[in-house]
Amino acid sequence: MIIPRKGTGLLKRGFPAALIWIGLLCITTSCGSTSRLSSSASDGRPKVLTTFTILADMARNVAGDRLQVASITKPGAEIHGYEFTPSDIERASGADLIVENGLGLELWARRFTEAAGDVPTVTLTEGVEPLLIEEDAYAGKPNPHAWMSPQAAQLYVDRLVEAFSELDPEGASQYAANGEAYKSRLQELDGELRDSLRSIPPDQRLLVTCEGAFSYLARDYDLEEAYLWPVNAESQISPRRMGRLIERVKRDRVPAVFCETTVSDKAQREVARAAGSRFGGSFYVDSLSDRNGPAATLLDLQRHNVKLIKSGLSSVSGPLP
Ligand SMILES: [Zn+2]
Repeated sequence: MIIPRKGTGLLKRGFPAALIWIGLLCITTSCGSTSRLSSSASDGRPKVLTTFTILADMARNVAGDRLQVASITKPGAEIHGYEFTPSDIERASGADLIVENGLGLELWARRFTEAAGDVPTVTLTEGVEPLLIEEDAYAGKPNPHAWMSPQAAQLYVDRLVEAFSELDPEGASQYAANGEAYKSRLQELDGELRDSLRSIPPDQRLLVTCEGAFSYLARDYDLEEAYLWPVNAESQISPRRMGRLIERVKRDRVPAVFCETTVSDKAQREVARAAGSRFGGSFYVDSLSDRNGPAATLLDLQRHNVKLIKSGLSSVSGPLP
C-alpha cells in the first residue's frame, strides 16, 4: 500500500517534530512502553486516530475492517479543553491518519498534530456550513457540534470516504459503499427524529441545556435553544447568565431542563430548582457512552437524547407550584 506523500489537498500534515517532542517529554515523565505500537503495527492495517469517540464510531462505519480505528479521548472525557499526554503523542505519531472535527472544537488539536509529527490530518467539518454562536465571548465563532445534525453528519461521512480512499486507494470502492450505507442510516435517523419530535407542543419546544451543543439539532427539528454556557471549554457559570436562564425557564414554563454527561449537572439542577422546573436528565453530546451504555454509537446517542427531550418537554404537568 502506498500512502501518498502529497495528498489532493484534503489531508494536511503536521510539523515533523514528533520525536523531539516525545524525547523532551520523556525527560520529565515516564513514557510508557511501546508494546501497544508494535502490537498494532503487527496488525498491518493502517491506523486511524480520531480526536473523540463519536468520530471513531463514524470512522469505523466507513472503514469496515480495512483500517484500525481508535479515539484519543476516552468515553466520558471532556473534549474541548482536553490535555493530551505523552502517550497520546506516542500513539498519534504511530498513526497513518488523524481525524478531527474542526470548527474550533478541539482547542488542543493544532498543538497535538504538530507534536505528532508528519501524520496526515483530515478535518470532517470541511464543507459544513457552520452555525454561529450568538452569545458572550464566543459570539460570531462557529458552533462546532455539527455532528448533532444527521444531515450535516452525512458530510462528515463524505470527508471520511475521501480521506480513507486517499490513505488506502485499493479500498476506495469499499469505503464508498460503506459510506453510502451509513449515510442512508443517518438519513433514516433524520426522519425518525423528526417524526418523534413533531408531537411536542408548540409552546414547549424550548430545549434548555448546559452547553449550546444542540444548535444544529434545534435548527433541523424546529426547537428553540437556551443554555448555561456556549461551549464546555468555558463551563463556568456567571450569576448573571444563570439568573437569566432561570427567568426564561420560569417565564416559558419549561417543564424540564437538561445537562450533558461530560460536565457536572450541579448548576442545571439548581436552575431547575430555582425555576420550579425539573431536571430531565443528561445527554450524550461530546462523547459516546461505554460499550454497554445507552449511547454506544452515534445513532444510539441521537435516539437516547431525543427520547429524553421528548419525555421531558412533552410533560403536561408544567412547572411545579
Ligand atoms: Zn461540546
